[in-house]
Amino acid sequence: MKSASTPSGQELFASQKLMGTRHLRMLRWVLGVVLLMAVVAASALWLAQHQARLLSRPSQHNDLWYIASVNNELSRVSLLAQEAAAGDTSIDELVLRLEVLYSVLDHSPTAPKVNVQFRDTLPETANTLDELARAVDASAKQLEQPNNANLPATLRQVATGLQRFREPIAQAVADVHLASTLEADRQRLRLLLSFTLLSLALIVVLVGTGIIIWRALKDREVALQTSQALNEANQLLETRVRERTRQIDEAHNLLTFILDASPSDVALIDAQGGQVHYINRRLMERLGMHQQPQTLRLQDLLHDAATGQALRQALDESGQIDGVEAQIASTPPYWSSLSDQLIEVEGRLCHLLWGFDISTHKRLEHELRLLATTDALTGLNNRRAFLDKAEVLLEHCRRYRHACGALMIDIDHFKTVNDRHGHQAGDEALRATARAIQSVLRDADVVGRLGGEEFAVLLPNADLQGTLDTGERVRQAISAITLPLPDGQTLRLTASLGVASFQPPAQTLAQLLAQADQALYRAKAEGRNRAVRYLPEMLDL
Ligand code: GH3
Ligand code: MG
Ligand code: MG
Repeated sequence: MKSASTPSGQELFASQKLMGTRHLRMLRWVLGVVLLMAVVAASALWLAQHQARLLSRPSQHNDLWYIASVNNELSRVSLLAQEAAAGDTSIDELVLRLEVLYSVLDHSPTAPKVNVQFRDTLPETANTLDELARAVDASAKQLEQPNNANLPATLRQVATGLQRFREPIAQAVADVHLASTLEADRQRLRLLLSFTLLSLALIVVLVGTGIIIWRALKDREVALQTSQALNEANQLLETRVRERTRQIDEAHNLLTFILDASPSDVALIDAQGGQVHYINRRLMERLGMHQQPQTLRLQDLLHDAATGQALRQALDESGQIDGVEAQIASTPPYWSSLSDQLIEVEGRLCHLLWGFDISTHKRLEHELRLLATTDALTGLNNRRAFLDKAEVLLEHCRRYRHACGALMIDIDHFKTVNDRHGHQAGDEALRATARAIQSVLRDADVVGRLGGEEFAVLLPNADLQGTLDTGERVRQAISAITLPLPDGQTLRLTASLGVASFQPPAQTLAQLLAQADQALYRAKAEGRNRAVRYLPEMLDL
């Protein structure tokens, strides 16, 4: 019985399967998010590292260094130009400083590499610097002309020209400084953004990993609980199976005990191969077996092959036979009232055989039949049995047109035997007469005692002459009887016989015997101790 508190193993499996499917789907989602976040974190980390690398580059502040160098050099060159105009400094030194300033301003590809990033962001500053470079170049070239007649004026012009750039360049220093600062701020912001993104991704990765670990622990806990519940269900099931097995064993043992103790023979055997599924002890003992045989065929069980054939035919027609009398092939064979039913065992047809010993019944039946058909005194057929057998025999002769003869035998003066020597001697005389008659007959002849001291014989395949000859031999055999009597005398007998021959096809047994009786009557009349054949005119007597 299933209780509400203890779900069956099957239910547990079903609920676990459903939960497992849901959790697996959720875990896949979480794992996907974690993996995505790991990629995002890696990207953010790479970005942050890139930003940091940019920020830490020494060239980052080259713009400032460049514009500051230009400003310093311009200040120095302007001062030198004023000193040269005043005649305090040589022209060569001024030209040298101009060339230095020019080289500082040079940002062409062939020039030494300087960072001029601001040129894109501060175009006006770039123009100013380009103008300054052109002015410096022009000033240097003017001063280098060998025959410059108006050198002082040129020097003043150079000084004025350079002085003009002092303020724009100072402004450019401030602009570049401001631009660099803004650019550094932007890069820091980007770095901060990358770190924020990295942090967020890491937080999501951590939360996701936490969820996965929590889920794994939870699943493990559920798995343990399920395993425990399954264990309990399994144990319950095993207990039930053991109990059921015990009940089945008990029922089986009881059934085997009943069948073994039964007065019937019981067997269950395969219809095809004869494998024995069961055979009860009683049948094994009767068949002289000490243990259950591997195989036992129906024909081996039956003493008579013809009976086996008939049984199988009846089984084929109806699948079952009841109470068929058959002899079982034991030593000696015994009669059994056999029932057989075809049943299916493990997908194969089997004979379920029940047999009940009817040997005693058959013996009594045989004895009764003997009593009913045999004359107790002589052992010959009695009147009724003789008439039955003679009827069958005569019918056979009629059908196959065989000759057939009849003898009617009556002991002469038998009453006198009884009267003189006693009834017992009379009985003995009757037995001796029966033996004498039988001694001259063939196996196929039928003889019976019709009553008193009167006997009859039916002789198949015997014509009138043959019957007459047999009658004569019977008469002689009876007259040859010598019975010693208690008083020392010897009893001798004679008999008279009537002989008749079958007139096919219409004559009946009664008519044939009546004719023999007529002839017997004639034999008596003619003086006894003789065999007389029937003649039609005897009817008139
Ligand atoms: P017949 O020559 O004319 O045949 O004379 P019978 O004396 O033989 O004739 P009957 O029929 O008059 O006598 C038959 C006798 O047979 C009468 C009876 O006592 C005797 N008998 C009949 N059955 C038995 C029997 O079973 N045992 C003995 N001992 N005698 C029997
Ligand atoms: Mg008689
Ligand atoms: Mg007689």
